[in-house]
Amino acid sequence: MNSLPTTALGLAEQGLPVLPLLGDKRPFGLCRACKGLACGGRPNMKTPGPCVCPRPCHGWAAATTNPHVLASRQWGLAWLRARAIGYHPGGANVTVVDLDNPDAVDWARATLPATTTVATTRGEHWIYSGAMRSANKVRPGVDIKSLMSYARWLGPGTGPITALPPAVLALVEREESTPARGAVDSSTLTGWDRSVATGCRHTPAFVQTGLERGLDNIRAHPEQGAGTAAYGAARFLAARHTACPGPCGLDRIAEELIAVAVAVGVPATYARRCVTNGMTAALGAVA
Ligand SMILES: [Zn+2]
Ligand SMILES: [Zn+2]
Ligand SMILES: [Zn+2]
Repeated sequence: MNSLPTTALGLAEQGLPVLPLLGDKRPFGLCRACKGLACGGRPNMKTPGPCVCPRPCHGWAAATTNPHVLASRQWGLAWLRARAIGYHPGGANVTVVDLDNPDAVDWARATLPATTTVATTRGEHWIYSGAMRSANKVRPGVDIKSLMSYARWLGPGTGPITALPPAVLALVEREESTPARGAVDSSTLTGWDRSVATGCRHTPAFVQTGLERGLDNIRAHPEQGAGTAAYGAARFLAARHTACPGPCGLDRIAEELIAVAVAVGVPATYARRCVTNGMTAALGAVA
């Protein structure tokens, strides 16, 4: 028997809705009765259903503070197979800014107000009080985990907790809304310079000029059209470098294109796909 159920019970007593996670840090799969959402889903899901499954089905939606559920036979069997504890941040009225790598942590330190931080395998969780909509990849290496989402419990962390700041809310709002044209926050851009393009044959001025043209072209298009413009810009810019030995810092250029596309209203995942496909189209042409 591992110590997870005991720890989970203690967290639940403090008001944190918890659930067991498997070795790959993911929740348990659906049981036979819940497969294919035959049960209708749980009452707290986006499309509410009548599911009262006694097993930890439906990921974050199964997270609970109920000590009877946590100590039940069905959850007991799950805890035996569990390798980690997850929790539903939104259910505890907190938001986890999940920073996946050291670059993302540096960005947070430069941009976000200090709050409770928890070390993760390669990055950090920054935890703010207050809940919000969750979203993945709001920036390179940054996920927002709050409502209808789960995060891995890795300890209480250090430092006092801060109220959810506008800078974090804006990360998700930007994905949904279409701000006025030209309202692009250039401080969100990652930047291209010689230090990331040691194998590039072009001058920084050549690269910057081309990039600015591509960014302007994206800004000139609303939403769907901006995705296509991002694809076109990525393809055009990557094609300039097919004769360079590399690296040319094309990943930085891609991040700038994605950031501007997102800023004019393209959903983040779609923007990333457009830019990646555009770069692949150009680079694949010579391979
Ligand atoms: Zn079930
Ligand atoms: Zn179910
Ligand atoms: Zn180059």
